Amino acid sequence: MQDYDVIIIGAGPAGCATALAIAKRNTKKCLRALVVDNADCSAYKIGESLPAAARPTLSMLHPTLLSQITQDTANGLHEMCTGNASAWASPDLHETYSLMNPYGAGWHLDRALFDETLRKACDSMLCKGKFIAVRRIDRTNVDLGQASIDWEVDVESAEQGNILTFRAQWLVDATGRRAVVASKIGAKMDKHLDLLSFYLVLHKSDIDHYQDSATSSKPTEDTDSRTLIESAPSGWWYSARLPHDRRLIMYTTTPSDPSARIARKVTGFMDMVRQETTHITKAMGDEAWPLYEPSTAKFTQCTAAGSSVLRPYASWESAPAVPGCSDAQGLGRGWCAIGDAALAFDPLSSQGIITALKAGALLGSLLANYFYGRDNPPVNPQKLDGEGVVRTISEAYEHVRIKYEEGRSYYYNAVSRFDPTDEQGIGDTKLRGGNFRVQQRELKSH
Ligand SMILES: Cc1cc2nc3c(=O)[nH]c(=O)nc-3n(C[C@H](O)[C@H](O)[C@H](O)COP(=O)(O)OP(=O)(O)OC[C@H]3O[C@@H](n4cnc5c(N)ncnc54)[C@H](O)[C@@H]3O)c2cc1C
Repeated sequence: MQDYDVIIIGAGPAGCATALAIAKRNTKKCLRALVVDNADCSAYKIGESLPAAARPTLSMLHPTLLSQITQDTANGLHEMCTGNASAWASPDLHETYSLMNPYGAGWHLDRALFDETLRKACDSMLCKGKFIAVRRIDRTNVDLGQASIDWEVDVESAEQGNILTFRAQWLVDATGRRAVVASKIGAKMDKHLDLLSFYLVLHKSDIDHYQDSATSSKPTEDTDSRTLIESAPSGWWYSARLPHDRRLIMYTTTPSDPSARIARKVTGFMDMVRQETTHITKAMGDEAWPLYEPSTAKFTQCTAAGSSVLRPYASWESAPAVPGCSDAQGLGRGWCAIGDAALAFDPLSSQGIITALKAGALLGSLLANYFYGRDNPPVNPQKLDGEGVVRTISEAYEHVRIKYEEGRSYYYNAVSRFDPTDEQGIGDTKLRGGNFRVQQRELKSH
């Protein structure tokens, strides 16, 4: 049994940012934080577009984080993103250029490497293993005049495979959109309409294979470093050039839409790309001179992509008063969800990573404030109690949720070019692939 002040389960962007923000303020090294994670860093991870506006947060979290990512980019391990190009409300392309962005260019990351870089920065706080179980532990010691309540967490160690048990006053769920910790302690995941994203990672063709072709003037490289987005009758398409000569193509729709069944198979998916996109098709090269190898897989990859909100985001329980004893002020137990575990976005927003980093940075500073404020009131007169931590992070998330839902509604309502005309009628909408657009537009906020 090992005691900590804070245990963070999940070391993606949200969990790492929380841990790094705690460490930054833990100058006296008296705060004990543990981060538990079971990621397989050799597996491909989707979610690669990181806006340039993440730079200040990365710099603030750790002194070498941004320079490490910049160096990895220079070494070809991440790609720069030169802007966004979308054919959304109309078939015409609308572009935003990173040149016009005060923060400069964003990234198309090697996402598994990016997360691993964050975890390396967490260093000695990291424990590789899988969260298994959580229990509430209540202890009353009348002789000492103290009641304390905390969390006990079981983790299956990645190294030995044995079960390790840890105890802490604060528990942070940063496990991503499944929120595995919070759902075990009674929080409820409120799902918006379900979405599925189907995707393929294409690898560069062997150009030499085409050297003898008469069409030698055709381009031999994919030089399009923009994020490409195109709306479609029953969903939307996204593509980004990835490091290591790869390109990601992704299609998002509802699970019940007939197009989901077609996109499941690589052949159907590729037919849809060519029928429904202009700019993404162009970025792949033409059929006589493809820039990417045809995929030999039978099925595309598929992942859940709908938005969801956890209720509540966080909670605090004060320790019960012990009859005849001094007060138990400051004692209690709290939990908080962060990142996708608290609020998962539709990937159209491309806001998931940056929001996870910023929210983790905020939560880490609140928790550090809670502990240092409690132990050193003169040093930190702005001390927060447990209720204060919960209130502040919950208000921050509500603010993000409201802005996100307004933005989402605006963008889905902007697309009417696939609506049936009066002559075609509703039947035609079904013929063209269900009612994805109607469902997205009718989606009410929570
Ligand atoms: C299809 C799709 C495309 C996306 N594209 C983008 C994009 O281009 N740009 C963008 O900004 N966002 C994108 N997102 C969203 C983005 O990926 C997430 O918002 C972001 O990863 C959230 O970070 P997180 O730390 O909350 O969760 P995660 O990144 O999911 O990290 C959770 C961590 O918890 C660990 N974990 C889970 N369960 C356990 C357990 N039981 N024990 C121990 N560890 C555990 C996992 O291994 C993982 O390391 C996309 C999402 C989807 C679905």
